[in-house]
Amino acid sequence: MSKFHYFALCALFPVAGYVFADGFGVKSGNPLITGTPYEVHDGTRPQPRIVENAGSVSVKPPADAIVLFGGENLDAWTSNNGPAAWEVKNGAMVAAKADVVTKQSFGAIQLHAEWRAPAERPVNGQSGGNSGIFLMGRYEVQVLQSHNNKTYPDGQAGSLYGQCPPLVNATTAQGEWQSYDVIFTPPVYEGETVKEPAYVTIIHNGVVVQNHRPYLGPSSHKTLASYPKNHPETGPIRLQFHGDPMEFRNFWVRPLGEYDSEK
Ligand code: MG
Repeated sequence: MSKFHYFALCALFPVAGYVFADGFGVKSGNPLITGTPYEVHDGTRPQPRIVENAGSVSVKPPADAIVLFGGENLDAWTSNNGPAAWEVKNGAMVAAKADVVTKQSFGAIQLHAEWRAPAERPVNGQSGGNSGIFLMGRYEVQVLQSHNNKTYPDGQAGSLYGQCPPLVNATTAQGEWQSYDVIFTPPVYEGETVKEPAYVTIIHNGVVVQNHRPYLGPSSHKTLASYPKNHPETGPIRLQFHGDPMEFRNFWVRPLGEYDSEK
């Protein structure tokens, strides 16, 4: 296809143009993901099956939960060691200006959060409806408006960004609240050797989209993730500001230990 024809096609079919622009349907040229025939952000990787569902499952924080955002203030969060850069509007925390990180650090946790992309905002692949929940500040659970919005599958909602697509696409319409229930365990090291990778289970709108999935290492963009030699035992949760006013609410965690231990 000539450049002229390509641009003419994009003008006639803007969606196709956007899709090309986002790499959907084409190889990325990034490294292969270990154990798969697919590259990091591979646009030819099969799109996860869509599962229609009833939408967000709102779970009130149990008595032992640490509420990180209950609808009123950003006291649990900081940006660049200063006040949290996000805004509170109508009981939601709204992404703006910079990432926010929790003041507290966590290791193994159960996490509940609800999120949404504003209804009328134009969304195109990775643009327009993007955030992310970085567990320990390192392991991204991708947040993306993925309803009627195709992108490379390892970058859609419920993916381990750059590593593993969700089992299915459980995203409901833009503007509706989505829920994530996440169970995360950090990697286990012996000295500088990884004995166990970090694992995550993700339930999106009541639908399992990751089932005890190992991370290949801390999340990365366009490169193959790998574990560093040194790794902390805990880390803060970081929420990504990707330029989009994504909203979060009812955000809580429960640190997980053994039933008969003090922690
Ligand atoms: Mg993201």
